[in-house]
Amino acid sequence: MTHVAEPPVTGGGQATELDHVNHWINGSRVAGASGRRGPVYNPATGQVARHVDFASAEEVDGAAAAAKAAFSGWRATSISRRTEIMFRIRNLVDQHREEIAAHLTREHGKVRTDALGEVARGLENIEFATGIPQLLKGGFSEQVSTGVDVYQIRQPLGVVAGITPFNFPAMVPMWMFANAIACGNTFILKPSEKDPSASVYLGELLKEAGLPDGVFNVVHGDKVAVDAVLAHPDIAAVSFVGSTPIARHIYQTGTANGKRVQALGGAKNHMVVLPDADIEMAADAAVSAAYGSAGERCMAISVVVAVGDVADPLVAAIEARLPKIKIGPGNEEGSEMGPLITKEHRDKVASYLESGVSQGATLRADGRQHVLYSESEGFFLGVSLLDNVTPEMECYRNEIFGPVLEVVRTPDYPSALEIVNANEYGNGTAIFTRDGGAARQFQFDVNVGMVGLNVPIPVPVAYYSFGGWKASLFGDLHMYGPEGIQFYTRGKVVTARWPDPGTSSVDLGFPRTR
Ligand code: NAD
Repeated sequence: MTHVAEPPVTGGGQATELDHVNHWINGSRVAGASGRRGPVYNPATGQVARHVDFASAEEVDGAAAAAKAAFSGWRATSISRRTEIMFRIRNLVDQHREEIAAHLTREHGKVRTDALGEVARGLENIEFATGIPQLLKGGFSEQVSTGVDVYQIRQPLGVVAGITPFNFPAMVPMWMFANAIACGNTFILKPSEKDPSASVYLGELLKEAGLPDGVFNVVHGDKVAVDAVLAHPDIAAVSFVGSTPIARHIYQTGTANGKRVQALGGAKNHMVVLPDADIEMAADAAVSAAYGSAGERCMAISVVVAVGDVADPLVAAIEARLPKIKIGPGNEEGSEMGPLITKEHRDKVASYLESGVSQGATLRADGRQHVLYSESEGFFLGVSLLDNVTPEMECYRNEIFGPVLEVVRTPDYPSALEIVNANEYGNGTAIFTRDGGAARQFQFDVNVGMVGLNVPIPVPVAYYSFGGWKASLFGDLHMYGPEGIQFYTRGKVVTARWPDPGTSSVDLGFPRTR
């Protein structure tokens, strides 16, 4: 490593050379020229740790010009050479897991082990993309007519963009750019302005791996930058991950402007627990999946649907586990759950506890009682458990995106299924049972894109594709895996005859197979 800025692996929030986070365009850091910038907090201390440049439409245009200029050379680069670069990227990300994770802890707040888990799941996508020679193979049909062959090839789209959320500042960009660039596209990333440093660090690693300048670019910013991406005539496709209202806006505006768009939105993930489930295992799973990463995961379990008489012992088993969860700064040894991303978000999450209780829910654990909630400047909130929640309540109807687990009690499987299927979101869900027939029926019945059978966070491995249904995804193709390859390429079918002067004649009839 020569030029890559290393963040401190342990100390949080100190000033470093990344004090001002610049754009990454055409293989270099580029200082923002718009005069607009935003604060980047260390959520564990509540202090502004650095600032990030916000791009204007002209700066987005500059990135698009760099990406466009790089496209013809990159798409013509042989598949073997592109594969070699993907392997080098894979190795560099692998070697620098700790540094990437340190960026995540400092700006997102997640604990080190969780941050390393994020890097590992992102890396899987780069590993998948190293298989690009296989993934881009088309079909070939010989002798479809006498002397005629037909084959299909998949070609890159051109300049493509990714717009990503705060909760996975490294993994979600890797979901997108690994396949996009392996397919021969050039890429513009607009990461979350709340935790932007990991994306520039990744840009530096990609350059070191030998990726030509302009193939991967990062522009920071807010709605101004996003809307410039959506309107840009040279950007062919947009991948988005974030909240549902913004996903809808991205899909509608992007497609109206003629772009291919996949826009993944918010979630409210239910874990159905049947009366025959192993209560201890279900409680472990519910607690891990609800409070991991402070509940700021789109695949977090936010609602336990307790069926029949499982409810009382299950709620007791969950409650018993809560005092043992260690909450603290992400870089502190032993911390299992860090702070939330901003003070505003933390306060919004806490407000659902108030509204839940006022609408009849039972507050069995109140995160506001945690000492760090009142005594720290950081954006901490302890873990909360709301029991006797019903689908009409505000706390149920909204995606809370924080360390709050809700319990809805239902008498039987059909009513549990009805609750899950009536929810506007359909990202992930899980069922806990020992009955294979019941689990199979659930898999058949449920209107959700990713289903876990005794698995609480069923994020597909990189060689399947990730995506929800209903308000959790706008567009036709899910993200990464085989559908990611489809998204970042378009098919071309060639019908070929090589002249054989001996058989050539004039024929005005419609071409038909012979
Ligand atoms: P967000 O929608 O606020 O922001 C996502 C991106 O959109 C960011 O880059 C942001 O800068 C940009 N953006 C924000 N407001 C915008 C506007 N008005 N116009 C244009 N662009 C705008 O989401 P977030 O708070 O960063 O992330 C949390 C959300 O993401 C949650 O709803 C979570 O469920 C969702 N999420 C979904 C998935 C999934 O796979 N379905 C994965 C991770 C996160």
